Amino acid sequence: MVEKHIMDDTRKLEKEFNRIKKSTFLTLQQLGVPTVELENDFINSNIEAGNVRALRDFIWYQFNKHLQREAKDSDLQSRIYYAMAMFRFNYEEGKDVDRLKQQSIDAKKTHYKISQTGTGVVMDAKIYNSIKNCCPECTADDGKAFNLDEFLDSDRLPHKNCTCEGFGCGCSFGVVARRDENGLLIFIENDTKPTTSNKPLKTKSTSTMLQNEGAKSILSIFNVFKKKR
Ligand SMILES: [Zn+2]
Ligand SMILES: [Zn+2]
Repeated sequence: MVEKHIMDDTRKLEKEFNRIKKSTFLTLQQLGVPTVELENDFINSNIEAGNVRALRDFIWYQFNKHLQREAKDSDLQSRIYYAMAMFRFNYEEGKDVDRLKQQSIDAKKTHYKISQTGTGVVMDAKIYNSIKNCCPECTADDGKAFNLDEFLDSDRLPHKNCTCEGFGCGCSFGVVARRDENGLLIFIENDTKPTTSNKPLKTKSTSTMLQNEGAKSILSIFNVFKKKR
């Protein structure tokens, strides 16, 4: 009887081990970790089948190795940090999940701070929920657009008063070109040198007045938000 129990436990652990390995290796590969290198590292680490703890350490090491490998790609770094948060949530009792989610958002902001210059059109940050059935705070922001520069300097995400269960706020953002009421792009007026100053950006469109009104109300929402902090 005792032996049978030990057998069952071993088999259970191996099953768990294989489940974690399969799902996390897939995640790592989707993030661009080279398969051959990953498999070689795994073989060289001599981890016994069923040693879940050693496997988790190995995965964590691979995440960090990939962060270093892709240190110049902030957009990818953002995805890696998010996957690390998910990993901690799924397999390590949620340790440090909030910090990792913040790092994911920060990396994405860095990406857009670097890459947004020179598009020539007015851009917005658009928030979206990535998890179904969010709390009221997350739901309220789903699909909302904010002036990109204002957004990048704000700490709107992850939502601070989020009451989503489990993983918590899983909201992220994308960057879209703002359009006027005719669906046309709004070009940044280029009357001076390419803007490197802190001068507010001028916009030109068939409905400059309306656009400015729109921008103003977005700004005032932001200011209200800032005051609350
Ligand atoms: Zn949220
Ligand atoms: Zn929430």
